[in-house]
Amino acid sequence: MTTAETRSIDYPDTRLLIDNQWVDAADGRVIDVLNPATGQVIGTVAHAGIPDLDRALAAARRGFEAWRDTPAHERAALMRRAAGLLRERAEGIARLLTREQGKPLAEARAETLAGATLIEWFADEGLRVYGRIVPSRNPSALQLVIKEPVGPVAAFTPWNFPINQVVRKLGAALATGCSFLCKAPEETPASPAALLQAFVDAGLPPGVVGLVFGNPAEISGYLIPHPVIRKVTFTGSTQVGKQLAALAGAHMKRVSMELGGHAPVIVAEDADVELAARVSAAGKFRNAGQVCISPTRFLVHRSLVEAFSQAFVRRAESLKLGDGLEEGTTLGPLANARRVTAITQVIEDARRRGAEILTGGERVGSAGNFFAPTVIAGLTTEADLFNNEPFGPVAGIRAFDRLDEAIAEANRLAYGLSAYAFTRSLRNAQQLMGRIEAGMLWINQPATPSAELPFGGVKDSGYGSEGGPEALEAYLNTKAVSAVGI
Ligand code: NAD
Repeated sequence: MTTAETRSIDYPDTRLLIDNQWVDAADGRVIDVLNPATGQVIGTVAHAGIPDLDRALAAARRGFEAWRDTPAHERAALMRRAAGLLRERAEGIARLLTREQGKPLAEARAETLAGATLIEWFADEGLRVYGRIVPSRNPSALQLVIKEPVGPVAAFTPWNFPINQVVRKLGAALATGCSFLCKAPEETPASPAALLQAFVDAGLPPGVVGLVFGNPAEISGYLIPHPVIRKVTFTGSTQVGKQLAALAGAHMKRVSMELGGHAPVIVAEDADVELAARVSAAGKFRNAGQVCISPTRFLVHRSLVEAFSQAFVRRAESLKLGDGLEEGTTLGPLANARRVTAITQVIEDARRRGAEILTGGERVGSAGNFFAPTVIAGLTTEADLFNNEPFGPVAGIRAFDRLDEAIAEANRLAYGLSAYAFTRSLRNAQQLMGRIEAGMLWINQPATPSAELPFGGVKDSGYGSEGGPEALEAYLNTKAVSAVGI
């Protein structure tokens, strides 16, 4: 079949958003977009070149000048209007998201609606960006601290949560008065485009938001050093994050980095083992494990390993693998063929090392990127699965004897994004709170990141936060003013 024959009638081609207009790339280049459930081409996305980026940058500069001077209350009202449109359009947007990314429709719907909630929270938090008056040592001097938007922002967002990853950056940028130029993922372009359309329709001035796609390295290599851009924010792998942070450092740009994770789950001797298995399996297989805070290294007290493994496998085997648009699907395909290759290699490595595949371990079918939910036991700490972020539906279980050992294993890797623990003892919980090296720790519960809670990592998982007041601080400059003679 040719590309044209496999195009979908209800999936739009995506263009570039510059100055509130959707435009083709100047040279007309496009990239195909595939449906991960079928492997077929469903549309195209425009591939920006340097002339397109120059136009987008000029728009972002003008947009910043207009938005910076818009009163915070007006900015908040516009953002709330956009959130309302997102809610109204959630069903259609969720279908686009599932078609291009693969996740079950219920997850896509929840992501879109959560996006609206995040935008509303950021809109309100933007009303509370205050400066302060500092008593002076000189009685005739007036000393002020003023908070100002950092300027036009370049954002780079990945394909695992095409809406949420944009929203966390966009919400903070707009609430503080910054303009926002986003390079969203070429694999999943239509849902972020629909998100930004809601802001255009809500009445945002031209240039305040922009959206480009193309060659990621070419775009980041041009935008980050460009004098118009004052802040860089990236979500993606640690490897790429380090390159972009280095480039931003060379040009002295403000940076937020939300990078990879390899979340440990410590199931202590006194844990509720059924709760631990239920919560962990739901977390592990959400979005087919393509989540930066996905639980991955299961460290289970030796006395509970058997019961935990059995309960976990039961939950994995009860999932319904299929096209995310089909009724009843609870596990969709992997978002792209790269992930199938990567997960196959992780499992081959475990097999070579003599680990036991308790369930799954195989690709399913030949069309689409379907992979069976996989649980592996008997892993050594040298196994690939225990060292590199798998970013897929695979869990590894290891036994421990003393909590100290489990904490040491949790902290062994350079990652430090999310961690989970199950225990009924305050003493254990306090020890875990104090000693786990992670930006987020969830005890006896799944991850419940909300707008008001900081979201971010430590160590190789990056720096900066995408939730709570810290998220806005990352888009603000602080200016000290001292005035005499007035
Ligand atoms: P990748 O590292 O090539 O890309 C990750 C993301 O970064 C993509 O969205 C990509 O478009 C972008 N990117 C890559 N190179 C870039 C560059 N030079 N400049 C700007 N953006 C760039 O890998 P991938 O195959 O897309 O994903 C694999 C790994 O990425 C996963 O295993 C996972 O570790 C990580 N990842 C993390 C998150 C997260 O939420 N933290 C999201 C997606 C991917």
